[in-house]
Amino acid sequence: MLKNLANLTALMQITFLGTSCAKPTKERNHSGIYLSYGGDGILFDCGEGTQRQITIAGIKPTSVNMIFISHWHGDHVLGLPGIVQTLGISEYANTLRIYGPKGTKKRFNEMMNAVVFDNRINIELYEGTGKIVDNEDYYIEAEELEHKTETIGFRFVEKDKRRMKTDVLKKIGVPEGPEWGKLQNGHSIIWKGKKIEPDEVTYIVKGKIISYISDSVPSANSLKLAKDADLLICESTYSSKMQEKAEANWHMTSKQAAIIAKSADVKKLVLTHFSTRYKETGELLEDAKEEFEDVVCAYDFMKIKL
Ligand SMILES: [Zn+2]
Ligand SMILES: [Zn+2]
Repeated sequence: MLKNLANLTALMQITFLGTSCAKPTKERNHSGIYLSYGGDGILFDCGEGTQRQITIAGIKPTSVNMIFISHWHGDHVLGLPGIVQTLGISEYANTLRIYGPKGTKKRFNEMMNAVVFDNRINIELYEGTGKIVDNEDYYIEAEELEHKTETIGFRFVEKDKRRMKTDVLKKIGVPEGPEWGKLQNGHSIIWKGKKIEPDEVTYIVKGKIISYISDSVPSANSLKLAKDADLLICESTYSSKMQEKAEANWHMTSKQAAIIAKSADVKKLVLTHFSTRYKETGELLEDAKEEFEDVVCAYDFMKIKL
């Protein structure tokens, strides 16, 4: 879980592009969450109008190189053809990687075939659960959730980094160069006849964890996805007053989302995917706060830096 000095400054920023459920409102678009990390533009769900929300948020659509689809209900995917078309008529040098639950390849291809595209971009499709992305900086896991159709949740895990105690190294007199590289990779060095262990001159910065639980009822997997997350983004379509409706529609209440956050030792909870009946989210927030204090209700274009 260690990486080198070159990528230590990756900035992690989340922008909420849509926070409504099945119907958009004047204030809230369909589901879409943009995570910028280093050079990656990662989109979680892509409801109708997502590309316009991206533009309004001041993000370049061409920065998107990965899209994670939680499930194929329209409010999470109807923006896909639009963004793919825009990328096709833009200077898009990337390969767009799209991940989703079982059935994603077939459904995506059917969706694309329904539309005429003059310019096709390079797209790679992936479906299923487990560790679906793993690179030098982070990995992403997907787990099945319980909803009306095949649905998955995601867990973005930034890898731990070893940082140099530069003042200590300067004091000892080790100049910046290959010896620093060895220490940073966790190896000891011999300096002027004395052994220096990496733990003496470096320290570990824990990577951040972001979990996204979309449409679903609480399950063992939602706890697994949320475990120790710095930020849990969780659906919260109703308050507890609508518990029966939530169950009937395979959705969660704010209190249930808060119980997941509490049980999984999450640091901060962000609620999203609100029923249009809630013009104000105060009732949802209060409902959640009965179980978990550090909670906010997302709104369109809300940004969180981690
Ligand atoms: Zn939905
Ligand atoms: Zn749904």
